[in-house]
Amino acid sequence: MSDHHTFRIGCHLSSSKGFLAMAKQADAIGGNTFQFFTRNPRGGKAKELNLKDIEAYKTYCEEHDIGRVLAHAPYTINACAKDEHIRTFAREAMADDLRRLEHIPECCYNFHPGSHVGQGAETGIEKIVEILNEIMWKDQKTTVLLETMAGKGSEVGRTFEELKAIMDRVELSDKLGVCFDTCHVFDGGYDIVDHLEEVLEEFDRVIGLDRLRAVHLNDSKNPIGSHKDRHECIGAGYLSMEGICRIINHPALRDLPFYLETPNELPGYAREIQLLKDARR
Ligand code: FE
Ligand code: FE
Ligand code: ZN
Repeated sequence: MSDHHTFRIGCHLSSSKGFLAMAKQADAIGGNTFQFFTRNPRGGKAKELNLKDIEAYKTYCEEHDIGRVLAHAPYTINACAKDEHIRTFAREAMADDLRRLEHIPECCYNFHPGSHVGQGAETGIEKIVEILNEIMWKDQKTTVLLETMAGKGSEVGRTFEELKAIMDRVELSDKLGVCFDTCHVFDGGYDIVDHLEEVLEEFDRVIGLDRLRAVHLNDSKNPIGSHKDRHECIGAGYLSMEGICRIINHPALRDLPFYLETPNELPGYAREIQLLKDARR
């Protein structure tokens, strides 16, 4: 059982050495959660899980209070592509990821809704819904998260309305949630620096704050509404340390797990985690 009132903070880690290695790494840099890619973004078959590693991982997590981990689908999948071969890869990769993730306790599975590549957002939404309805099943333990997007190119999921439209049409909608990427939301045009309260009210009105499951905590290299999706280190971008402080302490967000996807190596992540712990009220 994990305490949902502790400050859950971690960063994106490489999964190449397995789950126990990630948990130890998270702990070593002062974190108590982490995010990882489910497979190589450049495609290919995913590694089969090593069940011995998973057993050791579970024990380690219990002993060191590591929890609420986040699996990230490869960012190269596109469930709403025009090309059916690309959609087939998305469907198969996501179905296979979900099957493997059943072994990981307290796990959410985050994916980018995709790019409609000129077909229009409505067609994009339909195609994403179709794939989700094909790959999700009634008794799955993993919650699937739609990530809020920056609106780069023809990305679907920049607006809360688009995410809502997807969620409404998925049959097992109760197994869906949202991952709030602070760089993307800001880059997508929502002013979470000077109007955090209003943006969260809007999110609540359109989707419902109860749907939030995770926060990607990133600063942004670009000003609001740039649609460029360039992450910056905490406090070094347009969100600023003050803006980020308000985010991690906001009553609607503070009990969610926070995952850093900032341009850092492990020592940089360790410094940011400490900085954020110091900023918690
Ligand atoms: Fe992402
Ligand atoms: Fe993200
Ligand atoms: Zn991004």
